[in-house]
Amino acid sequence: MAERMLKFTTTPKATPAKRAAETRSHDFHEIYADFIDAKAAEQASRCSQCGIPFCQTHCPLHNNIPDWLRMTAEGRLEEAYELSQATNSMPEVCGRICPQDRLCEGSCTIEQSGHGTVTIGAVERYLTDKAWEMGWVAPLKPGPARGRSVGVVGAGPAGLAAAERLREAGYAVTVYDRHDRAGGLLIYGIPSFKLEKEVVDRRTRRLAEGGVEFRLNFEVGRDATLDELRERHDAVLLAVGVYAARDLTAPGAGSAGVTAALDYLIASNRKGLGDTVPEFDSGALNAEGRDVVVIGGGDTAMDCVRTAVRQGATSVACLYRRDRANMPGSVREVAHAEEEGVVFEWLAAPRAVSGDAGRATGVRAARMRLGAPDPSGRQTPEEVEGADFELPASLVIKALGFDPENLPEAFAAPDLAVTRWGTVKADLRSMMTSIPGVFAAGDIVRGASLVVWAIRDGRDAADAIHAYLSQPALAAAE
Ligand code: FAD
Ligand code: SF4
Ligand code: SF4
Repeated sequence: MAERMLKFTTTPKATPAKRAAETRSHDFHEIYADFIDAKAAEQASRCSQCGIPFCQTHCPLHNNIPDWLRMTAEGRLEEAYELSQATNSMPEVCGRICPQDRLCEGSCTIEQSGHGTVTIGAVERYLTDKAWEMGWVAPLKPGPARGRSVGVVGAGPAGLAAAERLREAGYAVTVYDRHDRAGGLLIYGIPSFKLEKEVVDRRTRRLAEGGVEFRLNFEVGRDATLDELRERHDAVLLAVGVYAARDLTAPGAGSAGVTAALDYLIASNRKGLGDTVPEFDSGALNAEGRDVVVIGGGDTAMDCVRTAVRQGATSVACLYRRDRANMPGSVREVAHAEEEGVVFEWLAAPRAVSGDAGRATGVRAARMRLGAPDPSGRQTPEEVEGADFELPASLVIKALGFDPENLPEAFAAPDLAVTRWGTVKADLRSMMTSIPGVFAAGDIVRGASLVVWAIRDGRDAADAIHAYLSQPALAAAE
């Protein structure tokens, strides 16, 4: 093995080719090319096959990274793919959009020794893209029918991961979603320059062809109550994500031209999917020829600034009240945005939206500094007096984060217990909510999080539902 692996001292780290900023800023295609075969093997061979692989510990799915890297280096690609998909329902999605710098790669031992991390995400993506290309991705094979059904509310990564596993275990599975397409934020949140839609659609098609029923344009709360779903199914999984956007309270925040991030991103994604989008066509949600200010410092803000660049904005600025080191978004995404011409105003908070006849013309911002740490140890931003400044903006995008909707009210389910933040309370082990037979997974339990955690939760919830429905008492009650 040693001669094929441990090449990190002689082989430098390399990522797949990235398209130049001047070219990629004009389209919505993904920015990285795939590894060519030889490069994937070469990069996988840099792994030192750690006895205690911290990469694996810090991957939420505990992917068996060292083993599939070794197989890739040895050219055993189909085996490597089989191993990687054994723990991950969508390895090619995670390979593209996990913030690896904070997860697997951030813990790679050779990075700590100054040699540059193994490019785990890029190899993971390469393996599964290769598997699709070669026909190694097998059709979903439903297990022997159990005569029991599960309703999954939400077709995001948590719901899809659960649906796949439940169907494989022989359950009849119906996935309900209020959107007209399945995929959740993978389709309508995350732009295609990070994750092309076909990558998600082929996953959904595989589920549908394997017998998972999709009921789209179906909103629980409007088209059925939770009680009605309980009647229809033996168990229900809530995987509805978090969609109540935090609002901007500054004066002028109600002006025309001030919009919520997800409305903006959904319009752009729909346009890319070929839909007719009146709010885009009217110019209301199109950044072309406009000065744009995005408020916020997370992944959503990064997606908005980079979308605005691609739509042909005149200028794009991002206001964040803390500094670069303290922003919640991925470091890699900030670097991409800077390359594409986005200006970051660190330590800046909106004071007011300036306007003319009710239309936004700019954002007045206060300069901040980081003060004393709060009880969590995070430094609190405080204003620097007399240092306000103004940025031009006819489109102001609010990307301040998301909270859960009021589910007990929306679902006419007062017994559904929620935390003080509005997330659904679910038992850590059984994943069951306060309502027997109703489970929950993904962002609606964790609060806004990551795709890889949603997949992990969806898989765990499927196992928990299977354990619940396999109890002798429930089987006897049939
Ligand atoms: P979602 O993906 O939100 O799916 C929930 C689904 O439930 C939706 O399809 C919704 O329509 C449906 N639904 C909601 N209510 C109802 C109802 N009443 N009836 C029927 N259906 C309903 N994470 C990363 O790891 N990497 C990234 O780069 C990244 N970028 C992001 C960019 C943006 C703009 C956003 C907003 C998030 C990003 N995230 C990223 C976070 C990630 O997308 C989420 O953590 C993940 O999608 C959560 O999965 P989920 O299945 O819990 O919920
Ligand atoms: Fe890394 Fe994400 Fe893949 Fe895990 S799923 S190995 S964290 S890229
Ligand atoms: Fe290989 Fe890095 Fe994981 Fe060690 S931590 S097994 S070097 S990928």
